[in-house]
Amino acid sequence: MTEHLTTDIAVIGAGAVGMACALQLAAAGHEVVILDPNTPGSGASYGNAGTIADYAVQPVGTPDVLKNLPSLLFDRNSPLAIRRAALPALAPWLLRFARQSLPGAARHNARAIAALVGSANASWQTFAAEIGGSDILQHRGCLYLYETASAFRAAHADMAQRRGLGIAVDLLTAQELAGMEPGLPGVEGGAAYFPKAIFLSDPGLMMQRLASRIAALNVLHRKAAVTGLTRLVDGIRLDAPGLTLHARRVVIAAGAHSRALAAQAGDRVPLDTERGYHVEWDMAAPRLTRPTCPTTRGFYLCPMSGRLRVAGTVELGGLTAPPSP
Ligand SMILES: Cc1cc2nc3c(=O)[nH]c(=O)nc-3n(C[C@H](O)[C@H](O)[C@H](O)COP(=O)(O)OP(=O)(O)OC[C@H]3O[C@@H](n4cnc5c(N)ncnc54)[C@H](O)[C@@H]3O)c2cc1C
Repeated sequence: MTEHLTTDIAVIGAGAVGMACALQLAAAGHEVVILDPNTPGSGASYGNAGTIADYAVQPVGTPDVLKNLPSLLFDRNSPLAIRRAALPALAPWLLRFARQSLPGAARHNARAIAALVGSANASWQTFAAEIGGSDILQHRGCLYLYETASAFRAAHADMAQRRGLGIAVDLLTAQELAGMEPGLPGVEGGAAYFPKAIFLSDPGLMMQRLASRIAALNVLHRKAAVTGLTRLVDGIRLDAPGLTLHARRVVIAAGAHSRALAAQAGDRVPLDTERGYHVEWDMAAPRLTRPTCPTTRGFYLCPMSGRLRVAGTVELGGLTAPPSP
């Protein structure tokens, strides 16, 4: 039997983005229904590295990445991997990516990202307080690790550019780093320390608090995967197996799956999928006190509640291929 619902605003996807939108809309007095076939906040919003990375203003596409793009295709262990099977479908996106990796575009994009993420730290503090999650936010900064002396020297120009964009960063010698994080193996190079950065000690728990908060505001959650989106004169119809929902407006927040849904609404979004992975080790007290990214490896070592999570990598491989951690 098909359930028929009507609402003021439908939100597709109950990740961090969809639930944050639902929270603001419900708080502003709108009637909101959120659709997701999975447990709210159990996708990327659960499995990430937990950094509120207002310092990560360098785009993925830079002249260095462009120079190394051909070798990245063949090295499974590089921080950026591209699945060869996905290349034909990715080609138009990759061409745009290559153009955006040229020096002028990369500098412009860094400024744009800095403007976008500049208020992330303060916004998260307000948001966490609103959903009862302030205890999950940790104020211990984040580290970029440079394992060799030459990589550390090369980082100085990058950090000068970040300072120019208003980011607080201290460069630490190998000895200073060892004093700050004695649990890390020694390095020849050094580290960049972002003292104002904050991180989540448990992204999954933060998502549970957010889900509870929106449920308390009477946001209705239906376990449904939207397959059809049709514009009508007086709104939008969403179709999912066993459900038809008529909404005045729709927020598409289905993460990596948003492009296909937006296309059904007639909106062309130049978005492709960046896949990432994490592995975890149970540890009552991880030997590390703040997220640390060995920069050439492209992942973060993240101390989280009761475990160490290693999360990251950028894999361009489309939406349908099985995982290749
Ligand atoms: C390994 C890894 C590490 C990361 N580390 C960081 C980090 O340190 N800092 C940072 O800022 N970001 C990080 N990110 C990125 C961050 O996690 C994502 O940008 C963020 O979680 C996206 O949230 P979202 O709500 O858009 O998507 P998601 O959390 O993926 O939620 C989308 C939801 O939409 C649902 N959905 C999909 N299709 C449909 C459909 N047809 N109908 C209904 N629902 C649908 C899904 O079930 C899902 O629940 C990381 C990502 C990964 C993978």
